Amino acid sequence: MVRAAGADFRLEELRRPTPGPGEVLLRIAACGVCHTDLHVQDGSLAFRFPATLGHEVSGTVEEVGDGVGHVAVGDAAVGAFIMPCGRCRMCTMDREEICETFLSVNRRYGTLYDGTTRLYDADGDPVWMYSMGGLAEYAVLPALAVAPLPASASLAECAILGCAFLTAYGALVHVGDIGTGATVVVLGSGGVGLSTIATARALGAGTIIAVDITRERLAAAVELGATATVDATSGDPVDAVRELTGGGAEIVVEAVGQPRTVRQATEMTAAGGRCVLVGIAPSGVTAEFEITPLVRRKVQVLGSMGGRPLPDLTALGRLVSEGALDPGALITRRFPLEEAGTAYRLLGEGRIIGRALIEMGASS
Ligand SMILES: [Zn+2]
Ligand SMILES: [Zn+2]
Repeated sequence: MVRAAGADFRLEELRRPTPGPGEVLLRIAACGVCHTDLHVQDGSLAFRFPATLGHEVSGTVEEVGDGVGHVAVGDAAVGAFIMPCGRCRMCTMDREEICETFLSVNRRYGTLYDGTTRLYDADGDPVWMYSMGGLAEYAVLPALAVAPLPASASLAECAILGCAFLTAYGALVHVGDIGTGATVVVLGSGGVGLSTIATARALGAGTIIAVDITRERLAAAVELGATATVDATSGDPVDAVRELTGGGAEIVVEAVGQPRTVRQATEMTAAGGRCVLVGIAPSGVTAEFEITPLVRRKVQVLGSMGGRPLPDLTALGRLVSEGALDPGALITRRFPLEEAGTAYRLLGEGRIIGRALIEMGASS
């Protein structure tokens, strides 16, 4: 957990949490190391402290609250970083990925939807939950954020389905409207970008082009399914993509979140295509693009947030069990829980290619 903004990660013994009605207690197998936690830890994303971070988890169902039907004690399961309330306007329209309660309650106050946390320290004082607070041995999640996993899937590695791959799937399927043989360009080959490349391949994309500024990340992109790469440090990446695709791609996913790459993404999109933005920028940052080419070519610029936890994680679990998707191929570093601070430091220094995994029960 983290005691205050800017403070280091530290290991503390908390009381074992109990799930309420409609909630699930997971014994965590692993938690992925994602940038968003880092922004919370260093204070650049406002949150309440003390807090348990970590929002990309898999584990075994240890206990279920009243009214939970789709998972049972002993099931292998993955948790989504988006934890839908199931009751708000968006949830009732099957738009759980933009659940209003999740953003206004959990991401603001660090609680679940009865307004209280499930985590208390040894003194009985509350510890706030960033999503489920997955950097821990146990976590409570609303049941709508928990999807069962096929027994054949590697439980620990499937943790990263819960944020990186859920984001990739939502962007490609729900917003990008990907079809077999589609041409997909992905700007940025960090955890989400590489997940998008692997998912595009699993979903039958034809040409997949990775754009990044480091050679190691582009090499990882090729390993995961990119059919071509563009090194944005040598020459104009827009020209390169247009040349490779004969005028632009049907789907361009921007996973960087910078004004320049957003503009480039719009310019890499083919006439009638979709430019999907998933990269997050600090608040107040704006991007610009030239109006008329976008209008004339009917380019759609669309934001995409995560995916629909239960149906999309179920679909991702199926891709894994069919052998079409291998989350393990993205995982390059593994750490025990007591070394979470080291993992996030390396992530902040840009020294993690792909995804790092914190494995509970592993020891250093
Ligand atoms: Zn994340
Ligand atoms: Zn909701």
